[in-house]
Amino acid sequence: MLNIAIFGAPGAGKGTQAQSIIDKYNLKYISTGNILRSEIAKGTPLGLEAKAIIEKGNLVSDELVTKIIEKFIADNRNPNGFLFDGFPRTREQAKNLDEILKREGMELSCLLNMDVPREELISRMMHRAQVENRADDTPEIFENRLKEYEEKTFPVMEHYQNQGKVMSISGVGSIEEIFVRLAEKIDSLL
Ligand code: AMP
Repeated sequence: MLNIAIFGAPGAGKGTQAQSIIDKYNLKYISTGNILRSEIAKGTPLGLEAKAIIEKGNLVSDELVTKIIEKFIADNRNPNGFLFDGFPRTREQAKNLDEILKREGMELSCLLNMDVPREELISRMMHRAQVENRADDTPEIFENRLKEYEEKTFPVMEHYQNQGKVMSISGVGSIEEIFVRLAEKIDSLL
């Protein structure tokens, strides 16, 4: 079983690569960002709670996203494993994830980090803002998302470095080139 968390700054290309990874390794995909956006679209209480926070580019509470992950894992058993995208995003979430997986007799196999320089992230965001029209992709909000990443999410790497579970690749290049790098790392776990 492979339980992988794809990791990196906003705009690093996690979502794009996630699709190829789940196809190749038959993993169950879970993106907390996608779940939150769908709750907002449906106008659920959870969506209402998350909307204003996401629109500012801030992080939703650890408690809320941990509940989402817990429910998803309980509802979606998959013998091949999970691909987590956008979770864990804080040290607290990482501890929660470790506990949830442990309870289910599983563990995280690796934190797969995609390294992309800050300037490249900003130029990608400007492009994505035009193409996808995401409400949280304006320059000011993106800057805040980057700040949240640098202050709260980056330390998640240290949490998993202490467990010897971090694998890093350069996230600069063509989509295909980057996938080859990621697949090499994943294959080394098999
Ligand atoms: P994403 O699509 O992963 O970039 O997530 C979009 C937004 O949803 C983020 O900027 C956060 O506001 C919120 N979000 C998604 N996942 C999490 C998480 N694990 N913890 C806190 N907030 C999250």
